[in-house]
Amino acid sequence: MKIIVLRPRDSWVIRAGNLFTGKDKSLKQNVLLHLQGGVIEKILPAPAGEEPEQISAGAGGRRGWKFLDCSKLTVLPGLVDCHVHLALDGVDFQRARQQWDEPARVREQVAQHLAQTLAAGVLFVRDGGDRAGVGLLAREMVKSDVLPGPVVAASGCALRKSGLYGRFLGPGVNGDLAGAFRRLAAAGVDQLKVLVSGIVSFREYGRVGPLQFSPEELNFVVALARQAGLKVMAHANSDAAVTIAVRAGVDSIEHGYLMSRTTLKMLARQGVAWVPTVVPVAVQANRSDLYSREQLTVIEKTYRRQLEAIAEAAELGVTLGVGTDAGSPGVSHGAGYLQELRLYRRAGLEPAAILAAATVAGAKIAGAGQWAGPVEEGRPAGLLAVKGNPLEDLDVLGEIEYVILPGPE
Ligand SMILES: [Zn+2]
Repeated sequence: MKIIVLRPRDSWVIRAGNLFTGKDKSLKQNVLLHLQGGVIEKILPAPAGEEPEQISAGAGGRRGWKFLDCSKLTVLPGLVDCHVHLALDGVDFQRARQQWDEPARVREQVAQHLAQTLAAGVLFVRDGGDRAGVGLLAREMVKSDVLPGPVVAASGCALRKSGLYGRFLGPGVNGDLAGAFRRLAAAGVDQLKVLVSGIVSFREYGRVGPLQFSPEELNFVVALARQAGLKVMAHANSDAAVTIAVRAGVDSIEHGYLMSRTTLKMLARQGVAWVPTVVPVAVQANRSDLYSREQLTVIEKTYRRQLEAIAEAAELGVTLGVGTDAGSPGVSHGAGYLQELRLYRRAGLEPAAILAAATVAGAKIAGAGQWAGPVEEGRPAGLLAVKGNPLEDLDVLGEIEYVILPGPE
């Protein structure tokens, strides 16, 4: 895998054997992409039989164009992970937490997580937060060109109720929600992450634990986020938690385990997106070293129910994004992404629908703006090139030939 960082003065011509734009379910064949700086300037049919030099010379007649031959590859938009935790490593939760107090170590860790993510073709991540500001640090490391990417949308701390789930995500509030929100906004977060419930129990199927906020409190914080121009990503499991989150007007439901069909219909109706994060639960189903047979049964049942709900959501027209919860136990940065895509496949979704969730829909959900989205003229050139056809076999994403992305301005 080779990473090509596009600098402002760079001009490239890419010859693509196949192009998946993300705008429809088809592949365009034999196209030329002209990139100027970090932007896709033109998409043209490739003249048959021409040598690379001729193609390059024909690209606007300008000197210094670089040519990238992807004539035997498929070019597609960069992937988007709508839910990661760059502060955690997916291996050792306690060790990662201990490193939060050692600035040099934490930078090293974050650099590693970002490199792994980029190598998997993920060019944009939305970080689900941590209480030490590591996600914010990661964002600054990419912005200041310490690393080429992925671009990070950071949540800072999650808004949560003290005494309830999520101590590693934020300090917890009791009462002064406006003050807590002000502190987050002052920290420069890209979106508000709010914890509406706990996580699913691995001991008892269907148990989640108490709601963290009343409907009134949730309405209040969503209104504050709206005033500040921030989207809201709501960690919510159980029908009750998702229902109050959707009614409060959040933009996306994160995890959303144990939703009923009625609730999924509500998501579709209100245009609320869903990021189901299956892999963090699915990987636990193999851990007989950690869980009893009864617990493994609960875990299995829980994630299989989630796969059914994904199929239902697709059928009902719910906007699906792809989020791995990378960093949570058992989920590695980068590698977790293809695992999550394979689970969508197991849920019965077609590769084209999965790729749309992974690229164009994900970009919208994550608020990627100019940094990710469809391959079209005038848009930034965050691209991947892979062998084979991802619309036939998503596993080709496991071996990426080129990662192409704009450098910071
Ligand atoms: Zn998370």
